[in-house]
Amino acid sequence: MRLSGSCYCHALEYKLELESPDAARTSLCHCSSCKVKSLWNKLYGLTAKVPLMSFQYTSGKPKKFVGDNGSETILHRKFCDICGSFILEYGDPVKDDFRFICLGSLDEPDALPPKGEFFCESRSKWMPEIPGTIITLLLKERMIDSRLGRCFSQNED
Ligand SMILES: [Zn+2]
Ligand SMILES: [Zn+2]
Repeated sequence: MRLSGSCYCHALEYKLELESPDAARTSLCHCSSCKVKSLWNKLYGLTAKVPLMSFQYTSGKPKKFVGDNGSETILHRKFCDICGSFILEYGDPVKDDFRFICLGSLDEPDALPPKGEFFCESRSKWMPEIPGTIITLLLKERMIDSRLGRCFSQNED
């Protein structure tokens, strides 16, 4: 399965080569970092976790922002320094293994629908549960304190 994506202005383009749709795991995350600060002030994170090897830029070089997520986990975030589109992120503990691609950057975001929803206790009150998601964890906000690595590693089978 081959997918492609780009930033808004197309200075950055990438391709994804997945063995199957199951090789990706899309999830919504309502943790405090995804919800407010990290995803360019959107109210939730929506990313597809893919193996690092499946992802490759075909055009341009992203700008990188590295920072503590507030819970002592270093997060790497990459975006277009022309239009500001957020392309992907990853926590330092999984930097050699996975990328979390911003779903909206895919040319066909519907190809990888959400399979999980996390930190649902922090979901915005007006926002309904996503139907059909296999995993719906009701994690307590305090769990984030241990490290946002959880936001990533918790999604494992
Ligand atoms: Zn751009
Ligand atoms: Zn999160």
